[in-house]
Amino acid sequence: MKYLAEYRDAELVHSTIAKIKETVSQPWTLMEICGGQTHSIIKNGLDQLLPDEIELVHGPGCPVCVTPLELIDKALAIASQPDVIFTSYGDMLRVPGSQADLFSIRAQGGDVRVVYSPLDALKIAQENPNKEVVFFAIGFETTAPANVMSILQAEQLKVSNYSILVSHVRVPPAIETILGSPNNRVQGFLAAGHVCAVMGYWEYLPIAKKYQIPISVTGFEPLDIVQGILDTVESLEAGESPVKNSYIRAVTEQGNKAAQQSINRVFESCDRKWRGIGLIPNSGWRLNSAYADFDAEQRFNVQAIEAEESPLCISGLVLQGIKKPAECEAFGNLCTPENPLGATMVSDEGACAAYYRYRNQPAENARDIK
Ligand code: SF4
Repeated sequence: MKYLAEYRDAELVHSTIAKIKETVSQPWTLMEICGGQTHSIIKNGLDQLLPDEIELVHGPGCPVCVTPLELIDKALAIASQPDVIFTSYGDMLRVPGSQADLFSIRAQGGDVRVVYSPLDALKIAQENPNKEVVFFAIGFETTAPANVMSILQAEQLKVSNYSILVSHVRVPPAIETILGSPNNRVQGFLAAGHVCAVMGYWEYLPIAKKYQIPISVTGFEPLDIVQGILDTVESLEAGESPVKNSYIRAVTEQGNKAAQQSINRVFESCDRKWRGIGLIPNSGWRLNSAYADFDAEQRFNVQAIEAEESPLCISGLVLQGIKKPAECEAFGNLCTPENPLGATMVSDEGACAAYYRYRNQPAENARDIK
């Protein structure tokens, strides 16, 4: 594929790994924040190509994984109601709630539709004025601009039968939570390139300074990832803690200012519960009071729904880089992608799902690097 193949070039990947081997002199533990990066690392076997001194642990940056169980239950409660059209990206339909998933609600007669954008959901609302149309607005900073755009358009077009069920989380508070934990093992971070394309990396500068930890903004292709690792290892070996931009083709320090202004107009900061981790103060966004009419939780009065995670699941430890998926007793037997018990087996981007999928088959069958 044009403009992508060069970032999967095996020769370039191996020569960058050779530079990492020349640079490293002691063990370092790095965390890639994003589930897309975890998927790429495991799919391409990059962790197995690195020198023994470098351990990669997998962070909480998979939006499907960290959406709390009670939010899924709230979605199911709304989608079960008559006169509701519940819209969502496809990957949320098979995520199990406490008793069911959106697929089974649809099988029982609920009007659950897959859309590719919240603007598609808004169009459905315009076409169905006698129905309530809800969009499941989950994700990190990356998906926030499109979600707020649908609210601003609904306001402008006076579409009153449209609302969103919001579960937005942000990366910097999660990094601070991991670094502030007494069990923290992470010595350097690969920040998520697509998040930084929206938000820039200015928010990471005080974190790197406060915790004396290097952070490299990193993309998703194999060459992007090994370059981010090389930049981080060079910082660690030099005893420095800068924020480096290893994804300059997509990211600037200030990010997309217009997108940030739209987000700040519609959302406000709030505490959010992360599935598998728990409550992180100021780690998410919700609709502010000016746009509360578009809040599906309030419109359908589902705020009080609570849920309990499986006691077998250690995904909270996996998402903080403390344990690897295979250290979970349920991995691959009681817990599989078809029957997930916890957050990180739910999505393709989850660490447990990536290990299950790519460590159960010959790695060369799975690799993209050419
Ligand atoms: S294998 Fe399943 S039960 Fe174990 S940590 Fe992963 S998601 Fe949780």
